[in-house]
Amino acid sequence: MPRSTTTLSEVKEQIWLHSISAAFTGLCILIGAAILFYFMQFWLSGDMLLTARIVMGIAMVAGAGICGVAVYNGALTSKIQSVTFTCPYCDNAIRFPEPPTDDFDCEFCSRTVHFKDGKPVPVQTVICRACRTEHRVATSVQRFVCDNCNRPLLLPWADREDVAIEDAAMDALLQNYDVLLVAYDRRRESELAFKIQNLLVVNMNEARRLISTVSTQTPLIVGYDLPQRKAEAIRRQLQELGATATMRPTQMVAGQRSR
Ligand SMILES: [Zn+2]
Ligand SMILES: [Zn+2]
Repeated sequence: MPRSTTTLSEVKEQIWLHSISAAFTGLCILIGAAILFYFMQFWLSGDMLLTARIVMGIAMVAGAGICGVAVYNGALTSKIQSVTFTCPYCDNAIRFPEPPTDDFDCEFCSRTVHFKDGKPVPVQTVICRACRTEHRVATSVQRFVCDNCNRPLLLPWADREDVAIEDAAMDALLQNYDVLLVAYDRRRESELAFKIQNLLVVNMNEARRLISTVSTQTPLIVGYDLPQRKAEAIRRQLQELGATATMRPTQMVAGQRSR
């Protein structure tokens, strides 16, 4: 992406670099001419010496002049007119020689401030649904990954399909499940009771009593509000004991309850 917009500090830096190299050149000419001016008397005499000294004298003046102009230009940078632009991401004031009309990187937070048709693109605050971190995102951006949890942010203005798919995947990721015991093998009741005892943290008698109430109409909730993997693991363990278990999304239950 082209960065045609230069900030005031960049402009100042360029002027300073230029001034310093010019001042150095001037200084070299001045010193060189002064040395020659002095040693000239050992090599030349009469008119030759006079002429050479006049030339060296002019060179010294010129060197001093270049040096002076460079220092003056450098000093002028503090008087350059500037406009202030507040970074939409970090709220720091950035100074420009003239109002910015094109993309540039903030010198404080290094993020790119976007422009469209010469105007800054509005920035909105988007909260990550997974970790609740707040992000300021330009509304021209179609994809933004949360730097805290690495999940894609749901951008209200983005309607791209892959964003929607990622969003659905995120829903699945965040969805918790209940595990329901609906039937069991009576021959393996003791093993199952032992498992239920551990899952529900009840004593053996209570576990046996709970199992005896199980039917498809009155399932026993053996896991509540669990991440998908955990819920699947419990269901598998129950199936290995000859029982039938199902999973249902926890939020649906909350919906049913409120009805
Ligand atoms: Zn910034
Ligand atoms: Zn996040």
